[in-house]
Amino acid sequence: MYQFTSIAQLHKDYLAAKISCKQIVEALLLEIKSKAHLNIYLEVFEQEALKQAEDVDILIKQGVTKPMLGVVVSIKDNILYKGHTSTASSKILAGFKSIYNATVVDRLLDAGAIIIGRTNSDEFAMGSSNEKSAYGKVLNPLNENFVPGGSSGGAAAAMAASLCHVALGSDTGGSIRQPASFCGVIGVKPTYGSVSRYGLIAYASSFDQIGPLTTTIADATLTLEIIAGQDNFDSTLSAKAIVDYQKVQPKQKYKIAYLKDCVEHPGIDPEIKAQFYNYIDNLKANGHSVAAVDFPVIDYLVPTYYVLSTAEASSNLSRFDGIRYGYRSPNATDLESTYKLTRSEGFGEEVKRRIMLGSFVLSAGYYDAYYSKAQKVRRLLRDQVNTIFKDYDFIITPTTPGTAFEFGGKDGDPVKMYLEDIFTVLSNLVGGASISLPLFKHSNDMPFGFQIMAPAFADDKMMAFAKQLMGEV
Ligand code: GLN
Repeated sequence: MYQFTSIAQLHKDYLAAKISCKQIVEALLLEIKSKAHLNIYLEVFEQEALKQAEDVDILIKQGVTKPMLGVVVSIKDNILYKGHTSTASSKILAGFKSIYNATVVDRLLDAGAIIIGRTNSDEFAMGSSNEKSAYGKVLNPLNENFVPGGSSGGAAAAMAASLCHVALGSDTGGSIRQPASFCGVIGVKPTYGSVSRYGLIAYASSFDQIGPLTTTIADATLTLEIIAGQDNFDSTLSAKAIVDYQKVQPKQKYKIAYLKDCVEHPGIDPEIKAQFYNYIDNLKANGHSVAAVDFPVIDYLVPTYYVLSTAEASSNLSRFDGIRYGYRSPNATDLESTYKLTRSEGFGEEVKRRIMLGSFVLSAGYYDAYYSKAQKVRRLLRDQVNTIFKDYDFIITPTTPGTAFEFGGKDGDPVKMYLEDIFTVLSNLVGGASISLPLFKHSNDMPFGFQIMAPAFADDKMMAFAKQLMGEV
């Protein structure tokens, strides 16, 4: 079977006629079937992908080049693809077919990519283990007793199991980086406002960003170049959008801060801490300057994230009413029972919990105490982080406090599950760029990630640093 290593190599092999795109897609389809028990893909667009592959082979023969020509991409089930089902891994969207493409999908198709299928995730991207999908859990390909992380667990597992070349996920509080950490792949959360959210089923609109999971930094960089940038359908996109993600030279030495309060957090696995400290020594030996900075507000990160994200979710998810999209309860008899029964039967437990929490923090009596307070904390966090970025290029932490855990490992306790996000939510709260690199392996044989956080719109610099750390220069 063809060993995919990078898009650049794939293109060379296409050009040298070592392999055709049709052969690539056929082999991937077989591989997906043989690993069906991992429950990674909710749907594979088999016939269409094969047809696209034949078209790609014709283009290659004609000498046409496109940046993603013949690159096989999976999309998380909350990214819309015209004429195809998208359910956000929820029963309430069962049978919903999109009538338009997400901007990222349009751009990937224009660049020659083949969309092979939609990947499983936690319902409405709410979760850290992929146990909350209405369509069953995803198994971690590295050890099937463990969760793949979430919410983009299917995307990370698809990369780890070599079932696509690039996976698109979405990251609201860590949903690309945390599963990337658990599955040993690269995961990028681009700066808020750099990648269009048009056609992404919204969870928390001021946090959500689409981003790539890949095996190399070069592939992630290329994918970002395709999907990022101005879009008339998303008014939250910034005019500062980065055009050339490769313009920064990868050889520089950087000033790096690490958050002592994260690394010394009582919840962190001692081995993760030890390996992280070793790696800091390594960075210093390589000429970077690395210093500890205090970040005493760490315990406010997860609460602030959950107050604000659930508030936004309760508003975003109000549109799923049984009238407009997907599932409608067959037991309803009038308008009110249509709303109530559809939502009661269609949403899973975690989604309901968040809608209730979000409605509560937005309710007249508690708005000031929770929602408006959390907004103020968000501003303070942003100010603190920006102060750090005045003196440092990057902030580093481990991506996660632990490695992948067993199914049911959080005992059904939502608060334990929410603490999974302790290192990742900061980047979403402040709107910056961040990435998880698969640099570490625990003695339990599972990988864990190294997280780099960069200021907003310094994605190009972050990718340059990542390239250096991954040895791609
Ligand atoms: N685990 C976090 C949550 O459950 C993050 C999810 C995400 O980034 N979509 O909200």
